[in-house]
Amino acid sequence: MGGEGFLTLCAVFRVSPEPVGEPLLLSLLRRYRDALNYSIKRIHGYMEENGLKKTPGDGAVHGLLYEELKSRFGLPSRIAIDCYREAKSILKSWLGNGGNGRLPRARRPRMWLTERYGYRVKDGYVEIIGGLRLKIIGWDRRYDQYPSRQAVLTYRNGKFLLRVAKMVPKPQPINPVDVLAVDVNEKYIVAGNHRVEHRFETAVEKAVRYRELAERLQRKYSNGSYRAWLRRRGIRDRVRRFHEKARSIIEDWARKTSHEIVVVARQNNYAIAREDLTYLVESLRKLPRQHRTRLVLLGYRRLGYWLDWQCEKHGVPCIAVNPKDTSSTCPLCGSRLVESGYRRLKCPSCGFEADRDTVAVLNIRRKALAQMGGSLTTPTAPQMTDVAPNRCGEPVNRPKGNPLLGRGGGQQYA
Ligand SMILES: [Zn+2]
Repeated sequence: MGGEGFLTLCAVFRVSPEPVGEPLLLSLLRRYRDALNYSIKRIHGYMEENGLKKTPGDGAVHGLLYEELKSRFGLPSRIAIDCYREAKSILKSWLGNGGNGRLPRARRPRMWLTERYGYRVKDGYVEIIGGLRLKIIGWDRRYDQYPSRQAVLTYRNGKFLLRVAKMVPKPQPINPVDVLAVDVNEKYIVAGNHRVEHRFETAVEKAVRYRELAERLQRKYSNGSYRAWLRRRGIRDRVRRFHEKARSIIEDWARKTSHEIVVVARQNNYAIAREDLTYLVESLRKLPRQHRTRLVLLGYRRLGYWLDWQCEKHGVPCIAVNPKDTSSTCPLCGSRLVESGYRRLKCPSCGFEADRDTVAVLNIRRKALAQMGGSLTTPTAPQMTDVAPNRCGEPVNRPKGNPLLGRGGGQQYA
C-alpha cells in the first residue's frame, strides 16, 4: 500500500448526507457490511474446499460472488466489486497475521470506496456512487495536497465518518548521534540514555477499571455456568462498551506516548531502540489469563506497533534488541548486578548503582549501539536534552497494510 518512499496516512472527515439520503445511505451501509461478512466467509470456504493457502484471484472471486452480492444484498455493480475486493484484502491480512481464531467480521455499517470510481470530493461535498451526496462537516485539511487513495465510510453512534487514505512522502531520515532506549514495564515506560530520562505512566490501571466493571456486570447477570447477560441485549451492550473502553484507553495511550517519545528522539537526533518484545509476550502468555496480564500484553504490543510507525513517519531509525539480561547486567562492566533495595541494583565489581529501569535503558542503548556498529554521526554541538515532548495527539494514522481497517489490529473491522 505505502510503496517506496511513501507512507499511507488516514485523513478523517465527518460527513452528513442530505436528510432524505440518510435512511437510504444507512441501509446501503448495512447491506454492504452483511455482504462483506458473507464474502469473507464464502471466499474462505472456497479456499478450504480447494485446499488453497492464498486468496484466489480476482476472476475466481468475481465468479463466486458478483451476481450474488447484487441480487441477494442489492448492491450496485461497482459497489459489489469493491465489496469482494475488500473481503479479499481483509482475509489476506488476517492470513498474513497467522489466520488464527475466528474469521474477521465487520460489525458496524460501512462501505469501502475506491478513488475515482467509488467517490469524489468536490466543493465541500463527497459524491458517492448512486448519486448520494454527503456534506463535509469536519475537514481534516492537513493532507489536502496529497493524493487520495481508497476510503471507508462508516456509521457509528449516529455519525457518518469518511476515512481517506493519503499517500504522503516519507521524511528525510535523520543521522542519529546516539540512541534513545525505551524500556517498558507494567507501571512505566522509560525512554532515555546516558544523558536523559523521560518517564511515562502506562494506562493499565485505568483500563483495568473498565474491565472490572464489565466483569462485575457479567457476574451479576450469571447463574452458575448459565450466562444470562448474553441473552439480555442491554447488559450485553454495556459489557461490550466497557471492554471497548478498556481497549481504546490502551490504544490512545500507546499512540500518544509513542508520538511523544519519537518527537524527543527526532529533536535530538536520536535513533530509537526498544526490546524485541516477542520473548516477553511469549512469557506473559503463559501466565494466567487475567485482565491485567491481557491489558499489559495489549499495551506492549500496541506500543511496539505505534513506536515503529511513528519512527517511520518521522524518519527516526528504530532498532529492536534482544531483551536477554537487560535488567541484570551492569551497563558499565558487564558483571551480574545484585539487588540493593527496592527496585535498585548494584554492581559488585565496579560499584555502579541505579534504578532497575535505568539499568534496562542503559543496557538497551548499549546493545543498540553495538548493533549499529560505527554508523553514528559524531555530534558537532552539545545535545539539547531538556526539550519538552510534544503533547498534541496524533491523528488516527494507520501503518503499513490496509490503513482503513479497524483499530487495534484485532479481528473486528468495525
Ligand atoms: Zn559494573
